[in-house]
Amino acid sequence: MNAACAEHIDYLMDDLVEETMTAPSLELIPDEERGKTKCNWCNQPAEYYFVFEYGLNEGE
Ligand SMILES: [Zn+2]
Repeated sequence: MNAACAEHIDYLMDDLVEETMTAPSLELIPDEERGKTKCNWCNQPAEYYFVFEYGLNEGE
């Protein structure tokens, strides 16, 4: 999962945009998932995760 703590959202977002040429949407990690998910950048508990909405421009 692509997830980040509040401090590193921008870092991860930049990386992901560069990698995928797509801007993911940011979702708050639900309370029950907190603590299980680590920030990709610093390995601290993450607060947000990135969602790629594939399919928006498909259909050809
Ligand atoms: Zn972090």
